[in-house]
Amino acid sequence: MVADTKLYELLEVSATATDIEIKKAYRKSALRYHPDKNPSEEAAEKFKEVSSAYEVLSDPQKRDIYDQYGMEGLSGSGGPGGPGGFGGFGDDIFSQFFGGGGAQRPKGPQRGRDIKHEISVSLEELFKGRTTKLALNKQVTCKTCKGLGGKEGAVKKCTACNGVGIKFVTRQMGPMIQRFQTECDVCHGTGTIIDPKGRCKVCLGKKVVNERKILEVHVDPGMKDGQRIVFKGEADQAPDIIPGDVVFVVSEKPHKDFKRVGDDLVYEAEVDLLTAIAGGAFSLKHVSGDWLKITIIPGEIISPGMRKIVEGKGMPIQKFGGYGNLLINFKIKFPENHFTTEENLKKLEEVLPPRKQEVIPEGVHVEECILSEFDSSKYNSNGRGQSYDEDDDEGHGGAEGVQCASQ
Ligand SMILES: [Zn+2]
Ligand SMILES: [Zn+2]
Repeated sequence: MVADTKLYELLEVSATATDIEIKKAYRKSALRYHPDKNPSEEAAEKFKEVSSAYEVLSDPQKRDIYDQYGMEGLSGSGGPGGPGGFGGFGDDIFSQFFGGGGAQRPKGPQRGRDIKHEISVSLEELFKGRTTKLALNKQVTCKTCKGLGGKEGAVKKCTACNGVGIKFVTRQMGPMIQRFQTECDVCHGTGTIIDPKGRCKVCLGKKVVNERKILEVHVDPGMKDGQRIVFKGEADQAPDIIPGDVVFVVSEKPHKDFKRVGDDLVYEAEVDLLTAIAGGAFSLKHVSGDWLKITIIPGEIISPGMRKIVEGKGMPIQKFGGYGNLLINFKIKFPENHFTTEENLKKLEEVLPPRKQEVIPEGVHVEECILSEFDSSKYNSNGRGQSYDEDDDEGHGGAEGVQCASQ
């Protein structure tokens, strides 16, 4: 396989240079490009590259891997079992390595995975705030062996994989060389071999132990669906990784009476016809736990579909303080058929505004129609008869259930 020699070129040494030659070359370059000596941006960049090259070439194991597999071998970017490149690495892998993408670097700890939990919260709890204690089972570094897995001296770097935990398997397929990454079978991917006699008795050489930790999760008043509560670095610990975060995501439970829109609450109120036209009061149980009594002043008319607002009775506004509003959508409960006598109905004529007088031009043909009951099951969701086209004139009354008879 053609080896990548870019790192040698950076230090201006041959690929067969001895450790001492490499060290000397690095010193020379470092002196030339050190920010103290050369404040230009170009020099700073060069200094970084030279240092990274030295970091690899000064370490016999890393140099070995680099000589054999190039930068890709060091970055471990190919997933286990995935196909590798074909030897001879281009500039992009090199720049990937130096581009600072932390996870790609062979040295420097990787970040562990975050643990995500959904936390289901009712509107009532989001109104008042809630503190929940949650038990978290997680892996922590074994304190007895300080994460080594055994007594000092009993823990040795795995020679099969150079302590990386990963092995590269190269396979020739015709003119191409395919490379696979697999877990080292000697150390089972741990990178170390522990003498059974010196193995840590607490973690049994696993370097980590399970621990139960109680987390107090504070849901603040006014928090919203999807909001995150983060415990930094509380996820699983493992050797050579920066633990991830434990993240709780607020999930707002649907409420039977209220709908939340931002900081506002929406309530569907049904009032009877008498209250709607003659005033009265209705009450509702608020998410605060209090009951609200809402008065409709006589003279004020509530019509179906009307929306009114009660200021300051919405949800608490997080950070800024104060409260949103309570929006009330009105439905009017009309009386049943034949709720009163014909005599009483006549009295309504004295009270309610007079009927609208419909004027039909003289001389036109008039059909008398009667209303029938409407059977919704025979109509689709938009309320129109299935046999009618969308652009059909509504006046023909398919959905209204009007039957007309020619006179
Ligand atoms: Zn190994
Ligand atoms: Zn231990």
